[in-house]
Amino acid sequence: MQKFTYHCHTTFSDGKSSIKEMLDRAVELGFTEIGISDHLSVHKNFMQSPSWPRFSEYHAPHIYRQEFKSAISDFQRHAENIRLLAANYPIKVYVGAEVDYMIYDGWLEEFMEFRQEVDLDYYITGNHYVFNSNGETLYHPRDIAVLFSQEEQEVIIRRHFNTLVTAVKSGLFEFLAHLDFMRKAEIYSLERFASEIDELLQTLAARNMPAEINSKGISKSGEPYPTLEIIKKMRNLNIPTLISDDAHKAENMGKDYDKVEKILQELNYTNRWKLNRE
Ligand SMILES: [Zn+2]
Ligand SMILES: [Zn+2]
Repeated sequence: MQKFTYHCHTTFSDGKSSIKEMLDRAVELGFTEIGISDHLSVHKNFMQSPSWPRFSEYHAPHIYRQEFKSAISDFQRHAENIRLLAANYPIKVYVGAEVDYMIYDGWLEEFMEFRQEVDLDYYITGNHYVFNSNGETLYHPRDIAVLFSQEEQEVIIRRHFNTLVTAVKSGLFEFLAHLDFMRKAEIYSLERFASEIDELLQTLAARNMPAEINSKGISKSGEPYPTLEIIKKMRNLNIPTLISDDAHKAENMGKDYDKVEKILQELNYTNRWKLNRE
């Protein structure tokens, strides 16, 4: 059984447990490592989004950042807090971030500046929003069904997968989170976006970049992110993988790891990845 998570959240973003509660739980579970990966979601027009009512209903507004400046100082302090606490624990503790990769002009430059200013151990790329063509307007994937025609929705979801390809090719991320998160969109089906997903998988394989299997989907929909069919494709392309719990509270850490381990075992999927830094 995998004895770590690199994908979990604390009250610093949208989690319900403190750093200490997460570290305590990791020790309790016999984990050898933990990486805390709170959301880094910066978009200059979050509050102008037609989805803003939904966003602000889901989470406290502090997780939707309109600029990098406060993100830099907040993450610096957060990383320091984690490392101070970690000194008291017998396990390896990493500090990371789960990043929404935005595509509007100027975002990447500011993200690069963030990376220079804030000393994190790793970055996850995981997109939760979809965009218009220049990326300046973003939407929650569930909202596009009422805002756009079927053809337009397809274009938007294709753009989403292209964005993931861009993020993977950037080389700025250690692994990709919840590859088929877009199954939240009404228009999504694996068949409809098979060629985009194949391109994404080919890009991961070519770069030998890991993609997680996110166990959180299991309790919600019976299948992890991504679904079994995509996991099989990952296996056939020999893409490195790891299990993530995406825990938003301590009690969900390691949840359903046994079920994902069983899937991996049945597929003889042995190319398992972990952070390896001393
Ligand atoms: Zn996520
Ligand atoms: Zn997450």
